[in-house]
Amino acid sequence: MKWDVSFETKCQGMDLSIQDQYHAISFPIYQTATFSRSYLGEQSGFDYTRQTNPTRSQLESVAACLENGKEGIAFASGMAAVTAVMNLFDPGDHIIVDADLYGGSVRLFNDVCSRYGLEFSTCDCSSEDVGSYIKENTKALYLETPTNPMMHVSDIEELSKLVHGKDILLIVDNTFLSPYFQNPLDLGADIVVHSGTKYIGGHHDTIGGLVIVNDSGIAERLRLILTTTGAGLPPFDSWLILRGLRTLAVRMEKAEKNAKIIADHLLKSPHVTKVLYPGLPDHPGHGIMKKQARGFGSVISFEVESKEFAVKVLNNVELFYFAESLGGTETLITYPITQTHAAVPEELREKNGINDRLLRLSVGIEGAQDLTDEIDRVFGL
Ligand SMILES: *Cc1c(COP(=O)(O)O)cnc(C)c1O
Repeated sequence: MKWDVSFETKCQGMDLSIQDQYHAISFPIYQTATFSRSYLGEQSGFDYTRQTNPTRSQLESVAACLENGKEGIAFASGMAAVTAVMNLFDPGDHIIVDADLYGGSVRLFNDVCSRYGLEFSTCDCSSEDVGSYIKENTKALYLETPTNPMMHVSDIEELSKLVHGKDILLIVDNTFLSPYFQNPLDLGADIVVHSGTKYIGGHHDTIGGLVIVNDSGIAERLRLILTTTGAGLPPFDSWLILRGLRTLAVRMEKAEKNAKIIADHLLKSPHVTKVLYPGLPDHPGHGIMKKQARGFGSVISFEVESKEFAVKVLNNVELFYFAESLGGTETLITYPITQTHAAVPEELREKNGINDRLLRLSVGIEGAQDLTDEIDRVFGL
């Protein structure tokens, strides 16, 4: 695989060290549970799909390349990926987590990992003094930027300097921007996590997760966890995500272009009381985003005048889908309070500003005019 080419070209890349017999352009789906041997001691590199599978390995290689990382590991979902990362730690370890995170991650930390002896502190990494949360047993700092759904932006490089040399791993969930817009490893992060379900897969047709690292020791431990727990991404889903990656660059560009138009359009509406989009020049994280990312992504959260208005919007969308998830080609509208963030404790939800007037749009790649027309139609009912 060529490493010294543009991002768009890397998306078309194939790791030729993982060959198929016939040199297919679309890497084959190795839909097999096991691999046979011609003789005792023969090494084909693949034994059993729970451990490794050529289609999964191909995806891992391309994904690592796109994040400028040494190794990629593909999991059955974003949550399986985050879980595996948490399995790196021991009982008694302390982890600082961002206050505004994907609801499933909050549930994992509070309801599962805490029971196995991991200790968590919640901190707003975009505004609080993260250093004041560091304790003797702190082993990791876990964050998203921009956050879901409040769009807080944290300075990855500054935070990496803060934890550097302290035996604390910086873990960044890069789902919202994808490797096309942001590469946390280049900014000093140790571990990058993705829900491959979102922009990387890009078509709302499969579930997957990725972890990308530079440290081969961490990669080896993650592979052991994957193999042992059976959390690997199946061959067909690996192929779907590989196919999705082919168009990552063009999808990200178009979706972001649409998002900018929609954010401006929402700002003009008298029914909208707040627009949270880091691409807006007066967003508090705009400057940091300009420094550490190449774009602002295409997720927009916004507040409308009342709960009744929010419900009206959700019940009347036609072009937008009222559905959880984000990062696909179609525009989705979500109600974080009852959908993506229902698992976040009410107290934290309120503190973060996730209220019953908040809506979240994942802007797709449709024609921009159709999207603004849809907003006007629904708002005008
Ligand atoms: C969706 C999502 C996840 C979880 O990924 P799944 O593929 O749904 O398991 C984690 N982090 C973020 C930011 C997400 O949006």
